[in-house]
Parts: sequence; C-alpha cells; structure tokens
Amino acid sequence: MSITVVGSLAFDAVKTPFGERERMLGGAATHFALSASLFDQVNVVGPVGDDFGDAELAILATRGTDISDVERVAGKTFFWAGEYHWDMNTRDTLDTQLGVFETFEPKLSANSRAADVLFLANIQPSLQLSVLEQMDGPRFTALDSMNLWIDIARDDLVKVIERVDCVTLNDAEIRQLTEKPSLVAAAKELLAMGPEIVIAKQGEYGAVAITSDTYFSLPAFPLETVIDPTGAGDTFAGGFVGAIATGADIRSAVAYGTAVASFNVEEFGTDRVSRLTREEVDGRVAELHALTTFDLVIA
Ligand code: AMP
Repeated sequence: MSITVVGSLAFDAVKTPFGERERMLGGAATHFALSASLFDQVNVVGPVGDDFGDAELAILATRGTDISDVERVAGKTFFWAGEYHWDMNTRDTLDTQLGVFETFEPKLSANSRAADVLFLANIQPSLQLSVLEQMDGPRFTALDSMNLWIDIARDDLVKVIERVDCVTLNDAEIRQLTEKPSLVAAAKELLAMGPEIVIAKQGEYGAVAITSDTYFSLPAFPLETVIDPTGAGDTFAGGFVGAIATGADIRSAVAYGTAVASFNVEEFGTDRVSRLTREEVDGRVAELHALTTFDLVIA
C-alpha cells in the first residue's frame, strides 16, 4: 500500500512572535509527506529548482519516502513568506513565488500512479487535476487548497473537488468557497458536489469531520508553547490520510492528524516531525482520547 502526494515543495520565510527563519524547507507536500510517512509508504510528486539542495532532499526522503518523482528543474523553488499575529492563529502572506511550479507538467512514474491513496496537497488546481487523471484508480482521494486558488482558479478547483472522496480546508476557506456563513450548511454544499468527507480545519480550535451522517469535532492538543504553526494543516492531513490509508475510521484518523499536527507546531518548519516517532504519536493520541471522552452522568 502507498500514498502519492502532489503539492508545493518550498522554501519558506516565516516570522512568528517567537522567532524568525529566513529560508527553511517547507511546502504543503513536504509537510504532508513527513507526517503521512509515519503511517505508510509515501511517493512525492513535484518540481524543485536548482537552489534545492541534497540536504533538503534527504529530509523529504525521511522514513523511506520515495522522491524519484521529485523533478529538479532549472529555476527557483516555490517560495512563500508569512508572518503570524500574536495569537498564532492568524497570519498574513507576505510573498508567494511559484517559481518552477509555473511551467511544471507532472508525469507520474508507474509506482506513483499505482498508489491506492492520493493526496492533492495545496497547489494550482490544474496540476492537482493532471495528477488525479494520471492515477490508475486509487481507492481514496483527498484534496487541500487555499484562499489564493479560490480567488484565482475557482472553476478548476471545483472540477477537482467533484472528483475526490475528501476535502480538507480551513473553515474560512469553506465559507469563502461556498459563500455560506454556517459551517454545517457550507459542508453540506461541498458534500453535494461529490466528496463523502469534509474536514474543516480550525487551527488552535481543532478540526471537524463532516459526512452525510456524522459531525465529529476534536479540539487541538492543548500546548503551552506554540513556536511555528506553518504546515500544521498539511501535517494534520498527512496524519489523517495516513491513518485512513492504514485502516483507521474517520474519528481515529482525525485524532491521528491532530496528534501529528501538535508536534509540528512545537518547532520551526520540518524540525520536529522529521525526527518524530510513531510511538510518540500513539502516546499523544491516547492523551487526546483521555482528554476528550467522558462518562455520561444524567444530572
Ligand atoms: P499550512 O500552514 O498548512 O497552510 O501550510 C503552509 C505551507 O504551504 C508552507 O510551507 C508553504 O510553503 C505552502 N504554501 C503557502 N502558500 C501556498 C500556495 N499558494 N500554494 C501552495 N503551497 C503554499
């Protein structure tokens, strides 16, 4: 069994109230792969520029992730810069440079095409569609996106949403896409487009999984110190999709996504998840379970 992911492979410049990094390994596919590789074999598809070094490739290949579909192209690696506000739950994007993604045409190897799970991490919806069309017939497909693509490529994004099993977006993006203020009504509209599962990510407030007959909400793991939330959403998706790929039900998969994401925000960029172990994740899932269950005593 394996999971194929396409999405940004990036350098990020990030400023938080607790520090600053001018150029660190980032990207939606990077954070997803580091997280999903705790559960299953991952294949990464995407281009990097000639400024992407062997050290970055080595981090991407953590836990055996197959990087043979990472294409090195003349030009610059995708670059994103952002600054977090004091509450760490909101941020401003200061710069986005697509670089080598501007002209990238994905060509999947037989290995990546044969994966039984596909994650279309955040990148131009047209590229997500091209990867989806090359797959042999995955049993589970999921997609992430963001406000930029809702703004400038909405029609393409809707075309991809219609063809996947699961959509993971933050709640503001779900409202923006559907133009519905109620999250429940907005999720229903997304489900009517085709997907069976909508995941609404809510930053420090956790995540909600909505299907036609389930509404499951789990808070984020309570942390005293958050250093850098960059990639938390992709890390959540990696844990969620990785757990689904290996047989978990939706609620447990939300807990796995939540647990891995909580480690991600404790250090800058990929620093924490690149050395995370499955035992640490399982321990935090057990803590989350203890924190969120209760015995019903009728008052
Ligand atoms: P998250 O914090 O989960 O939203 O993910 C942040 C990651 O997404 C960063 O590592 C960025 O490199 C990447 N990213 C930011 N903007 C975009 C974009 N427009 N398209 C693709 N990836 C992006």
